[in-house]
Amino acid sequence: MKIFADYHTHTIYSHGKGTIEDNVKAALEKGLEEIAITDHGPNHILIGIKKENFRKIRDEIYRINEKYPQIKVLMGVEANLISLEGDIDVPDELMKYLDILLLGYHTGVLPKDFYSGINLFGKNTLGCFVKALRPVIREQNTDAIIKAINKYKIDIITHPGAKVDIDTKRLAEAAGVKGTALEINSGHGYITSEYAKIAKEAGARFVIDSDAHTPARVGDFKRGINIAEKAGLLIKDIINAKEELK
Ligand SMILES: [Zn+2]
Ligand SMILES: [Zn+2]
Repeated sequence: MKIFADYHTHTIYSHGKGTIEDNVKAALEKGLEEIAITDHGPNHILIGIKKENFRKIRDEIYRINEKYPQIKVLMGVEANLISLEGDIDVPDELMKYLDILLLGYHTGVLPKDFYSGINLFGKNTLGCFVKALRPVIREQNTDAIIKAINKYKIDIITHPGAKVDIDTKRLAEAAGVKGTALEINSGHGYITSEYAKIAKEAGARFVIDSDAHTPARVGDFKRGINIAEKAGLLIKDIINAKEELK
């Protein structure tokens, strides 16, 4: 199978090492047809995209698309969950700049309010120490992501299960209904092949991404392809896969 697009890459607009153009050049070298620039959402403490940069990134991507017509460059964000109600850290007025919306569960994020902070992040930290709480926290994490899927048009859930525990089967059912792809992240190795199998049966589709934080890693799908093959996923299960030309 060939992966023709990398929909999850970071640049200096969050904590990546390369510029947008560096990532695009790397993608061209790897023979990709599409790349998305998806820096961390604005509430990511210290590293999130500054809200005033949305317009700037959009303009830069317009220019780069003109300069490199052989590849399609998309503007995206790896947004953060900021409340139990499924709120994310991209305000409505900034949505118009985006071609693609990713959502990931991250810590180190400014919550919507104090209550959300305690419940979203505090409880997950507590769960590291108090085993008995984990099943409840897992359900709560899952509910919050599902609410976000139902509230916004989210294209991809990044590395489900990587930072906090979630019920992949329940998430996969909701994602399948909404057409949201679950990411097999070549950097983190999440979701695992065991999870991918369960998620496929539950009706989800997938995307294989690099989550590159350096231009050198753009288009690095090796680990993701291994996971997908081990899980028995087919090209039709993966939104950015196609038949390899012989
Ligand atoms: Zn992430
Ligand atoms: Zn990322």
